[in-house]
Amino acid sequence: MTATSFATVLVDRFGRVATDLRISLTDRCSLRCTYCMPAEGLDWLAKTDRLSDDEVVRLAEVFVGLGVTSIRLTGGEPLVHPTLVPMVARLAALRPRPELSLTTNGVSLTRSAGDLVDAGLDRINVSLDTLERERFAQLTRRDRLPDVLAGIAAAAAAGMSPLKINTVLVRDSNLAEAPALLDWALRAGYQLRFIEHMPLDADHTWSRDGMVTAEEILELLTISYQLVPRGHDGHAPAEEFDVIDGPNRGSWATAPGRVGVIASVTRPFCRDCDRLRLTADGQLRTCLFARDETDLRAPLRDGASDAELGAVIATAVAGKQAGHGIGTPTFVQPDRTMSAIGG
Ligand code: SAM
Ligand code: SF4
Repeated sequence: MTATSFATVLVDRFGRVATDLRISLTDRCSLRCTYCMPAEGLDWLAKTDRLSDDEVVRLAEVFVGLGVTSIRLTGGEPLVHPTLVPMVARLAALRPRPELSLTTNGVSLTRSAGDLVDAGLDRINVSLDTLERERFAQLTRRDRLPDVLAGIAAAAAAGMSPLKINTVLVRDSNLAEAPALLDWALRAGYQLRFIEHMPLDADHTWSRDGMVTAEEILELLTISYQLVPRGHDGHAPAEEFDVIDGPNRGSWATAPGRVGVIASVTRPFCRDCDRLRLTADGQLRTCLFARDETDLRAPLRDGASDAELGAVIATAVAGKQAGHGIGTPTFVQPDRTMSAIGG
């Protein structure tokens, strides 16, 4: 039986329909961001534990048959996955064709941006927290800012549009740089989105009191810019704003720019969540902050049919938790870091 021959939608107890799948291709990374990974000592998944490309594509096909319409490749760092370009091409060949996007740190993007577009990549998000080299080296523990900036330019030159930039603001580090980052993004025509720091870091440095909130970010930006709320784009987590004025009006403000804030902690959007996550070792997570996972690798390797895999997935989705519960007394940070879940 093929995945498309059974018609089930992935709906949970709260009526949310899952249509967006994030696949972590690897837990490895070329950077070591302080809010994500430890400085050293995180064990990588063994090769035998990681899904092969064939297994990823097989599962993706099952998910598409269950109504998933968009697939984002992430990690760890997806660009360190040696067969990323053919993987994109294989996913682009699925029918109905899912929308394909990539979240990357951009470090080696100059080498593959054009090939990724040719293979069928539709959208890209590059993570960048600072434009200052020393600060970048502190935040990521690697001196790679020039490579990332070159990667972003290469992606734009390859025609990736809109090109989104993800920024996590960390107090005592890059917080004051938020307006400068926005100015840079507006001038270049990139869409900047600030992401609230979430309790998914290996070093467990996150605290509710210490994190930079969406409210604080917006207050900081409105000192320099006028922001007009646009709301959320469908189920997308970012609250979007048109930027219609700024300190250098005339140089970039021929058309409104755009900025987004992803307030996962302080303004959770769990009620509208349409996401699922597949880890590099084949575990299905219905929430970033879930404490439990559903093993898809074992049934896959045991020869389960598409319908059997679909039933396992549908059962997991049905049991999706109502919300992440950060800030509640029972909240416990997941054992996996963001890099091992797939952001
Ligand atoms: N390595 C790629 C990258 O950095 O874009 C993809 C994986 S990374 C886990 C995906 C996104 O998660 C990045 O934009 C990163 O900034 C964000 N991220 C990582 N740890 C986070 C945390 N603790 N809180 C909020 N965002 C985080
Ligand atoms: Fe790597 Fe991305 Fe985590 Fe930074 S945020 S350590 S680039 S996985």
